[in-house]
Amino acid sequence: MLTTSNTLPRNSWIMVRRREVSVRRSRLCRSSCAAALMSVLSFTAMAGEPRDENQPGERQQIAISQSVVPLPGPWRFHAGDSPGDRVAGIPLWAEPDFDDSGWETLSPAPTGASRATRAEESALVPGFTAKDHEKRWGFCWYRIRLNLGTFAEKLALAGPEQVDAYQVFVNGRLLGGFGDFSSKRPATYYKQPMIFPFTSGGFNSVSTPAVIALRVWTEENPLVSSHPAGGVRSAPLIGEENAVTVRHQQRWQDVIRSYLTFVIEALIYALLAIVAFSLILFDRSDRAYFWMGIVFVFTSAYSALDAFDVWTQHLSILQDLLLVRCLLGPLAYVGWFMVWWAWFRRRRPRWMPFAAAGVTAVYVVSYAVALNLFFSPVRPAIGLTLEVVSLIARLLFFVLLGSIVIHGIRRYGLEGWLVVPVILLLGIAPFQTELRLLGLAPSWDIFGTQNDLPQIASLMLAVIVALLLLRRLLLSVRRQRLIELDAMRAQLQSDFVAAVSHEFRTPLTALKSITDLLVHDRIADEPRRREGYLYLDRETTRLQRLVEDLLDFGRMEAGHKQYRFSTFDVFRLVRDAVSDLSEEADAEGFDIETSFVTAQASIHADEEAVHRAVRNLIENAMKYSPQCRTVWVDGKVDHHHVSISIRDQGMGIDASEQRAIFQKFVRGDAAKKAGIKGTGIGLTMVKQISEAMGGEIRLQSQVDVGSTFTILLPLAQK
Ligand code: ADP
Repeated sequence: MLTTSNTLPRNSWIMVRRREVSVRRSRLCRSSCAAALMSVLSFTAMAGEPRDENQPGERQQIAISQSVVPLPGPWRFHAGDSPGDRVAGIPLWAEPDFDDSGWETLSPAPTGASRATRAEESALVPGFTAKDHEKRWGFCWYRIRLNLGTFAEKLALAGPEQVDAYQVFVNGRLLGGFGDFSSKRPATYYKQPMIFPFTSGGFNSVSTPAVIALRVWTEENPLVSSHPAGGVRSAPLIGEENAVTVRHQQRWQDVIRSYLTFVIEALIYALLAIVAFSLILFDRSDRAYFWMGIVFVFTSAYSALDAFDVWTQHLSILQDLLLVRCLLGPLAYVGWFMVWWAWFRRRRPRWMPFAAAGVTAVYVVSYAVALNLFFSPVRPAIGLTLEVVSLIARLLFFVLLGSIVIHGIRRYGLEGWLVVPVILLLGIAPFQTELRLLGLAPSWDIFGTQNDLPQIASLMLAVIVALLLLRRLLLSVRRQRLIELDAMRAQLQSDFVAAVSHEFRTPLTALKSITDLLVHDRIADEPRRREGYLYLDRETTRLQRLVEDLLDFGRMEAGHKQYRFSTFDVFRLVRDAVSDLSEEADAEGFDIETSFVTAQASIHADEEAVHRAVRNLIENAMKYSPQCRTVWVDGKVDHHHVSISIRDQGMGIDASEQRAIFQKFVRGDAAKKAGIKGTGIGLTMVKQISEAMGGEIRLQSQVDVGSTFTILLPLAQK
């Protein structure tokens, strides 16, 4: 009971998307059949005898032109297989002189114009199961006698459509066949248009009165649809070889075209597989990419085999069912389960993936047994039970899948909802029979090709999954960036802690030793003792400032910093700051040059904060000017603003770092390389203060030329 083309297994769950070839093909050949029908009618008129009056045993007259003529019969029909002719070595029933007068009469084509107006599927006449041969499967024979005129060797026969397997004999000679007859039970293939030129059979023009015999194999299928199947159900065509060849080529083009979407689908999924596998390299922690890659490979192979099996005769239907539907399809669905399992990062309950694999296995077994892939035909009652088992297995699988998605929705919200359409689309192929029973199996004509619901669903699935992948990739990139940022921040923070400790430890060690000397009166010389006191004073002030800076920075970071606004002369404040630092500058050999365009400039701000900002910039200018020992401080005023610029001719700052150095803990590369100590919070504070005062900080700098930091503040309203 392998499937006959027009009766695909009803319960084929896993991604059964193979089209019902018979339907498609009968549709595609409609136009040529109509033309052929015209030929028949003209022939009947020419012959002057109504076709229905032909008696099976009589030779019929056919006038051949460039047309193709159907052979509607009536044919002689006999169930079973022919005994062999011991002398000739050919089946007895193929021989021209065999007396078939005792055989039944059958006509494998509908009559008259009814053919063109019938629905596509019913374009096939009922098979022999509709005519007292209900339970009969296996071999049967058809014979017809023709008078072909004098052009016999230039003729060709187009084989009947939708027959599981058959051989064509003309006057006892085997012209060819469809299917593999080498074993006792012929292997069947998905249906293809066949042509049999009479020359290939060594047909002799002398023997123009011809007997055409068809040896037909019909697969047994207890689960076939109710449409009466069996044997030849459409008339073979006969005609001048060129005309039959042209028609044959058209039919092949149709077959190839109608399966092109499967190839496109295979390519799309292959591409998606490459993308998914590449993403593994990008984010190894995400197992969803791996499972997606696997699923896409299976789906791509599945679609490619769909087309391959119809276009070639390399895989029989039995092999196709085993490979594609019992292996690739189920594996792809288990893979889909794993995709969403990994997608929502589920780890528990551990039994779930095994349960999904288990119900899939139950399905595969019930499917395979119901279709007799391994055993002799099962009884209809058992077949029905297995169908129910397969339905339950499919439902259970989707219950498991659904529970993962529900969990995903609960945990991730939108992320979970986005997967819902995918699950719905995934459910279409497995439940296509049920959907058809509910009348939900539309098909669409896209670019002249008929596409049914599972086919469209699969293409839509590819698009949605591609978008989901893209989204996940973007989220992954963002996550990766955050992780990197976190790592960078952690590094900066630990650098900061080390720098602060260093800032304290170095002066503290010096302070301790000088204090020891002073306490134990070890410095006898008065000027040197005074120098010691000055050093103590300077360093403790510096440490005090550092502690205050740190405390203030902490307050700013926490958003607790409160500024006390007052109106004051900012140029006076700058002069004070310069003089506060003069001692330190002198000690280091620095010269701070100031210039102000006006005597004074009033601003409304926090005096202490602005002082801290200016001092920080002057300290930096001295710290990062190892060569040039002059720092310039300029004060300017325009209509609304006062600007205080602190300029040095030091190491400068690389353009790539000029934004980052205003972030907390960030220190310039050149500064670190030069071994200049610092905490990386000074400029962050300057920026925050400037902005809190309604102004801003600007920087102009060039490596090895120098830097100018300018604080721009609004003038106080008069
Ligand atoms: P710190 O000076 O403690 O490192 P800052 O926030 O004050 O922290 O400065 C951040 C970085 O900006 C410094 O590490 C240094 O690389 C760079 N920088 C600041 N001022 C100058 C300057 N005047 N010349 C060159 N580089 C500077």
